[in-house]
Amino acid sequence: MSADEKFDVIIVGAGLAGITAALVCARAGLETVVFERGEYPGAKNVSGGVLFSPIIHELIPNFWESAPVERPVTRKEFSFLSRDRSLAFEFSSGKFAQPPFNNTFSVLRAKFDRWYAEQAEEAGAFFVTETVVDDVIMDGGKAVGVKARRDEGEMYADCVIIAEGANAFLPERMGLRQPFGPRDMVTCAKEVLSLPAEAIEDRFNLEPGEGCSIDYFGEGACQGMLGAGFIYTNSDTLSVGIGVAVSDIMKRKLTPFNVLESFKSHRSVRRLLKDAKLEEYSAHLIPEYGYKKFYPRFGDGWMIAGDTAGFVNTSLYHEGTNYATMSGKLAGETAVAAKEKGDFSAATLAAYDKALEESFVMQDLKRFRDVAHFMHEHPEFLGDYPEKLIEMAERYFTVTGEPKEKVLKHAVHGFRSKLPLLRTALTSIAMMQKVLGVDPKWFLFPGKEEK
Ligand SMILES: Cc1cc2nc3c(=O)[nH]c(=O)nc-3n(C[C@H](O)[C@H](O)[C@H](O)COP(=O)(O)OP(=O)(O)OC[C@H]3O[C@@H](n4cnc5c(N)ncnc54)[C@H](O)[C@@H]3O)c2cc1C
Repeated sequence: MSADEKFDVIIVGAGLAGITAALVCARAGLETVVFERGEYPGAKNVSGGVLFSPIIHELIPNFWESAPVERPVTRKEFSFLSRDRSLAFEFSSGKFAQPPFNNTFSVLRAKFDRWYAEQAEEAGAFFVTETVVDDVIMDGGKAVGVKARRDEGEMYADCVIIAEGANAFLPERMGLRQPFGPRDMVTCAKEVLSLPAEAIEDRFNLEPGEGCSIDYFGEGACQGMLGAGFIYTNSDTLSVGIGVAVSDIMKRKLTPFNVLESFKSHRSVRRLLKDAKLEEYSAHLIPEYGYKKFYPRFGDGWMIAGDTAGFVNTSLYHEGTNYATMSGKLAGETAVAAKEKGDFSAATLAAYDKALEESFVMQDLKRFRDVAHFMHEHPEFLGDYPEKLIEMAERYFTVTGEPKEKVLKHAVHGFRSKLPLLRTALTSIAMMQKVLGVDPKWFLFPGKEEK
């Protein structure tokens, strides 16, 4: 292909960000081509997760009626695991079982992304699969196309949207970012295990067709390292995995697989997985460097969306899919506006950054900007504190034949004696602010609710 024959937009990566951008561009009539290194969209995202879907619902109303979603998530559970004990908090809601299902579904990405790409294809986008993009072609500081790993691999376009996921090799080659350090990434191992639907509903206390997500923290989940374990219920499979800070796992000389096996063998986890058969195994990275290390997201002829831009919220929310779809949508809309104007310069594409700043993407990521740093500096929140809380619960519930006052004092004493009260209180307030995103001032001065 010569530079004279060109597309309007080239998108690198058919994940949630890239497909959303493709759908928006193709619907507006832009000539759109998407490069995906996998055999089909979703093939490299082999296992499952929770899809947060407000943007997909906006683009394809009631998409769950035709999309291969697994179960709406109506019950959320957070569980602290010590070596052989656990303490859990659960929330379930009948409202979440009604459309739009709280915009939260378990999905198997291999099925879902494929379906989603078909919607973009029907709108006119062209997908080139099994093709890795090695470079963005620059001409005088402007992106003018990509170099794909195939014969006649140079393809040209007015605009390149980079949505290649967490590894973000292209921005590194473009000189936009430094190589990632061990504190910048979480490494994950995940499995899909098959189990009949009725067994899933029985074991996880679910109404037929409904699903749950369980996030696990503490020693029993990640062997004292910074991270979490998870189980998500699909129709007749379970997605089970762990994610651990790369810096921690390197220090301990473990592999994600070791950590996953240990998590699966915990007494509160193994009975949930009993007799479930391994169907798939995969490993993946999650960017954790966050807001403070974000690098440029647009320039002359290019924009960056989704995980490539580091758009993941690693707080208790554990969300990336909604930031990927929203940033993909905004990048797509910016490309459409640029096409109308006939100008793909950085000055025009700056509208993408402005739209991101005004959307929940940047507002959330700014609010949660200190999560990773705080958790690295305060490992006690996933270690000592839950351990002490679990110990207190054990003492509280231990039946001894003694008066309750004695049992209760014993429970509180055990908890208090090892935790300096003032320091614990102050770091807990900081934790509430930085990790849960809740400003303690809101309790004192709640103000009027915004409509
Ligand atoms: C274990 C794990 C569990 C997670 N759980 C959740 C969850 O429950 N909820 C949630 O909201 N988020 C979750 N996330 C995060 C979420 O998966 C991501 O935020 C989201 O998938 C990002 O979408 P994306 O389109 O930016 O990238 P991806 O979905 O990673 O898509 C990138 C695509 O680009 C392709 N690609 C890469 N390089 C090239 C190249 N050079 N040329 C061509 N193609 C290329 C890849 O094959 C891939 O298909 C989880 C992540 C992991 C790893």
